[in-house]
Amino acid sequence: MSNASGTLFVVATPIGNLQDLSPRAGAVLREVAVVAAEDTRHSRKLLQHLGATPRCLSLHRHNESRRTSELLALIEAGQSVALISDAGTPLISDPGSALVRAALDAGVPVVPVPGPSALSAALSVCGLATERFAFEGFLPARAAARRARLLELVNEPRTLVFFEAPHRIADCIAAMAQAFGLTRRALVARELTKVYETLQSAGLGELAASYAAGDAPARGEFVVVVEGNPQPAPATQLDAESVLRALLQELPPARAARLAARLTSSSRQQLYARALALAGEQE
Ligand code: SAM
Repeated sequence: MSNASGTLFVVATPIGNLQDLSPRAGAVLREVAVVAAEDTRHSRKLLQHLGATPRCLSLHRHNESRRTSELLALIEAGQSVALISDAGTPLISDPGSALVRAALDAGVPVVPVPGPSALSAALSVCGLATERFAFEGFLPARAAARRARLLELVNEPRTLVFFEAPHRIADCIAAMAQAFGLTRRALVARELTKVYETLQSAGLGELAASYAAGDAPARGEFVVVVEGNPQPAPATQLDAESVLRALLQELPPARAARLAARLTSSSRQQLYARALALAGEQE
């Protein structure tokens, strides 16, 4: 690393309430030569509010690789750069990982300036287990892909955190209730740190009903935190199902069940009943 190199600061900005900007974040944004922002027009308002006048360069999904080399060259030439996103912490469902990776690889200093994130804000008020959690970001937009993703998560024991867009929130909660069950607890955190901040904590069935009835507001920004599965199905049960399905393609139900039971150490009677049901579905 050259002594003359600048620093890449990764700076968290507010998710709604301007007072959440830390004094350190403000100082860094006033000091750096360059700010790399997702949307420069949006971020100029924040910079103006701070009286900061850095050069602003856009860094978004569509120009990330080109812009990364340009920004790295500036840092290596001695200019310090602050990476910010439209709101919250960069890289949390936001661009910037290519730039951070390139800076780390080049050996230039990378400094986090932590602060707000919708992820940590929602977790901090979810009232569910937070020792371990899995951040799932945005679910797929299409219903079939969303359902498939949720089914992959049915046995996840860790608390799950999702971001969701307002026009999909009702469908998303309904799909979660269907996949995870009506009694699984969840928190819907809306418009965190803003004037219309609301927290709704209930079972997924109750939440889905409230959205279906139009009682819960579907405008604004949302984080959904869902309790993990406290009693995940043992792996062998899952395996037995897929083994049984595969064997049923080739064998009659009794033989398929006997073989699946032997291969997965599961109950032959239960698998036989399941095999009959599956064979019935196919008729
Ligand atoms: N990097 C950001 C962060 O750390 O908070 C998240 C960026 S992601 C593109 C935007 C999503 O975050 C929104 O669609 C919403 O799901 C969630 N989000 C952002 N601000 C929020 C807020 N004030 N209240 C609730 N959710 C918010």
